[in-house]
Amino acid sequence: MTNFNDFDISDSIRKAIKDMGFEEPSPIQLKAIPVILEGGDVIGQAQTGTGKTAAFGIPVVDKVTHEKVVQALILTPTRELAIQVSGELQKLSVYNKIRTLPIYGGQSIGHQIKALKQGVQVVIGTPGRILDHLKRKTLGLDSVHTVVLDEADEMLDMGFIDDIELILKQVQEKRQTLLFSATMPPAIKKLSRKYMTTPKIVTINKGEVTAPLINQIYFKVLERNKIDSLCRIIDSEEIELGILFCRTKKGVAELTEALQARGYLADGLHGDLTQSQRDAVMKKFRDSSIEFLIATDVAARGIDVENVTHVINYDIPQDPESYVHRIGRTGRAGRQGLALTLVTPREMKHLRSIEHEIKMSIPSQDVPTIEEVVEKQRDSWKKRVTDTIESRGKEFELFAPLVEDILQEHAPQDVVSALLKMNFSSETPNEEAGYNFGDTGGAKGMVRFFINVGRNVQLTPKIVADEVSELVGISSKAIGRIDIFENFTFMEVPEEVAPFVYEALRYSRINGARVNLEPAKPRPKREKRTPTRS
Ligand code: AMP
Repeated sequence: MTNFNDFDISDSIRKAIKDMGFEEPSPIQLKAIPVILEGGDVIGQAQTGTGKTAAFGIPVVDKVTHEKVVQALILTPTRELAIQVSGELQKLSVYNKIRTLPIYGGQSIGHQIKALKQGVQVVIGTPGRILDHLKRKTLGLDSVHTVVLDEADEMLDMGFIDDIELILKQVQEKRQTLLFSATMPPAIKKLSRKYMTTPKIVTINKGEVTAPLINQIYFKVLERNKIDSLCRIIDSEEIELGILFCRTKKGVAELTEALQARGYLADGLHGDLTQSQRDAVMKKFRDSSIEFLIATDVAARGIDVENVTHVINYDIPQDPESYVHRIGRTGRAGRQGLALTLVTPREMKHLRSIEHEIKMSIPSQDVPTIEEVVEKQRDSWKKRVTDTIESRGKEFELFAPLVEDILQEHAPQDVVSALLKMNFSSETPNEEAGYNFGDTGGAKGMVRFFINVGRNVQLTPKIVADEVSELVGISSKAIGRIDIFENFTFMEVPEEVAPFVYEALRYSRINGARVNLEPAKPRPKREKRTPTRS
């Protein structure tokens, strides 16, 4: 079995990887890192969610020296991705102190020039802004020996091809060029023929994988509300034993702590535990003194427990094979099992590629509302309260003076409600968190998007609605007004699915045409619809 120790990389990077909580290389890392370390050009076919950033990030960070010149250039389609990649590289290089800098449009160029002057080794940026710096001569590429084209298909879809070519022409020919892309359209192949030297191609799992016949559902969740969404989901399911999967051991530790703090019977399992600690956790799970086992893929290996009713992918797995592996842990011995997957907006495309590989479409369900959770939990909460009253215990006398005190000041209904809330209800999630589209001129509760194509590519409202419904897993009836014009389209979607629509449709295709969408600008004042009073 290959682990990070088998790669020929420096100890400081290994230490950083350990801190990040990675236990094992992901499939794309396993295949790409050794070939990248050999020094040749590599094309990697992988999506966000597969660990592709570290697949090129680890060799890049390993290769650059402390010399204060730009040695590696990473091109990304968006500023968000530039920031994300820079953050991941920063974490990978905490011990060898490499400086990385994200550079993108929309940020003050003066600030970037100042940062560049201080000496950075890796620059990550969008093609337009990088070109801008090259023209101003505030960025020099003479010492660049490695170029990464990240999400190359999206960059081409966004029309960056000319900028990319201009940039590549300014980097010495004797360089290492790495190209990562989720898809391999002819334009990517053309680009690679022109600018890469006999590249090796690495892909993950192109062989078919068959998913077991287990009920599968996915939930759309926002990163910041993930724990609260999870609590609502598990509160509305009848779970006997559930395995929750996280990507990293750090993730396992955090989720275990969060669930325990909320009163769930949960414990975590990860690769760092000793055999006896591991056995103790497994014993608790087998004899049902805990309901939830939280684990990484590595830690869950070899676990064989009969009555697992639910497998929950708290973090989406890194490849289809791991998905199949994880969900196969429920529904054993002819019992019904349920596999639930939490998907954030950025991971929508990765979910679609998993569905493609397992040749199955996974239905989606909405995260239960607090009202639904209360309805579902009524009997169980009532029973717990009744059981506690019946078993009394010496605390009852101990509490007596306090009870009297509280009841003198508050109505009994309020006191009971407060205690139920403290005990059973999780925080109300902030649905807006992370994605704030502002005023887009949509109807109440809707976000209006501007799509850059219209009748010119034969769009009809039905085609748009069907496409959105399929990509985002919502009923086409939930989609609001769609106005198609000659060269563009406006579409309204409910606020809660807006981040998913945004991530799924950005730089994608409808009707074979490249499309992009962005939040619409607010309508001019006089046009604004005013709610009618009845
Ligand atoms: P990416 O596909 O690069 O966007 O990565 C998705 C997520 O997986 C990021 O949060 C990474 O930090 C994380 N990740 C990358 N490699 C590994 C690994 N070997 N084990 C666990 N998590 C990883």
